[in-house]
Amino acid sequence: MNRDLEARMDAYIDRHEATIVAELAQLCAQPSVSATGEGITAAAEGVAAVLRRRGFEVRVEPTRGHPVVFAERAGGAERTLLFYDHYDVQPPEPLEEWITPPFAPSLRDGKLFARGASDNKGHIVSRLAALDALLEASPELPCRVKFVIEGEEEISSPNLPAFVEDNASRLAADGCIWEFGGVDEEGVPLQTLGMRGICYVELRARSAAHDAHSGLGGSIFPNAAWRLTWALGSLKGEDERIRIPGFYDAVVPPSAEDLEFLRALPDPAPHYLAHYGLRGFLKGLRGGLELRRETVFSPTCTICGLTAGYQGKGSKTVLPAQARAKVDFRLVPNQEPQDILEKLRDYLVAQGFEDIEVALLGSEPPARTDPHHPLVALVVEAARDVYGAPQRIVPMTGGSGPNYLFVRRLGMPVVTLGVGYPGGQVHAPNEHVVVANLLQGAKHAARVISRFAEGA
Ligand SMILES: [Zn+2]
Repeated sequence: MNRDLEARMDAYIDRHEATIVAELAQLCAQPSVSATGEGITAAAEGVAAVLRRRGFEVRVEPTRGHPVVFAERAGGAERTLLFYDHYDVQPPEPLEEWITPPFAPSLRDGKLFARGASDNKGHIVSRLAALDALLEASPELPCRVKFVIEGEEEISSPNLPAFVEDNASRLAADGCIWEFGGVDEEGVPLQTLGMRGICYVELRARSAAHDAHSGLGGSIFPNAAWRLTWALGSLKGEDERIRIPGFYDAVVPPSAEDLEFLRALPDPAPHYLAHYGLRGFLKGLRGGLELRRETVFSPTCTICGLTAGYQGKGSKTVLPAQARAKVDFRLVPNQEPQDILEKLRDYLVAQGFEDIEVALLGSEPPARTDPHHPLVALVVEAARDVYGAPQRIVPMTGGSGPNYLFVRRLGMPVVTLGVGYPGGQVHAPNEHVVVANLLQGAKHAARVISRFAEGA
């Protein structure tokens, strides 16, 4: 590593704070709501333009949904680093809870407030600032750099699998930097090495052609709401054990090393209890390592939504003909969504619920990066000078994402670094990035690209 170069890059980033924030504000001023399509095309073009300005060859590639921005620039070394990011954002509602409007970026108390300021435009801009710092030091980048920036991450990336499949050779790289990252509540940077998978279904019951008077049908007609709740009740017991036969067959327990990583993380229990107003946790958990282990290394069955019959003011004596439930299963290695879906369907039929329709709404398998891959150590250590500490390793996070396409289909290590912090209100009103974190993320990314090129 070149300490002198790194010091010069840090100084460059500090000197350009105002320009970096201005570029982020400009990207955030362009709405890009994937759920509604608002501003998507202009946002893709805007992201393409900022990369073209940095000498990248850029293509805005159409998909069946929103376009993917693909960019590439050669460098001194043939080693290739791929950045996966997304230009789309979550809907800004409820608008009345924003102190300043979501698409009118506002700088207050060292924070930039706007939808997308953190997730994910702040991360994108930190990578751009890192490139600027590198290009200030040398007319060419130290290695080949590619970007794949999609416009559907916030709606579960429905068209990314096909894009990756069709463009596998163009996306080839020796490593991938994932879209999110940042520091924990203690200001220590985190390295997240994997994500759980997901199998998201809707269970639908229909018991009659239309609703009936409950006085007429209550004793003699089947009731969709009861059918559905009985079916749901069969999936999991009060002991939290999921009753679908074979559900746990493929589960690989965390390794001793995974548990060591978890042990080194702060105990989230006090925050969860206070922030969510909980009386306690499931399964008698109180905190500590056991809670951390269960949080991510245990698969789930969660009722996310439940609808049937009359839910308006007062009473309505109705016997509902239809009922629906949204249910997600978070999956751990090596559970596969398709296998879980088949086991769920077979189980419901075996329990006498052949009348319950199971519709798959989305799925992503789990994926993890090997903690021993050299890229992990490189990124973890590169944080030290910037944050005063190396990254803490989070062996897996409870959420899900398209990282499996890169880890499993493209066969590359996926690591994280970025500009977020726990208070950033991501997906919520008053989303923001702390400018100091934005600069730290840029310095970290600049170091990573530089050291990666050296083959370190
Ligand atoms: Zn998001």
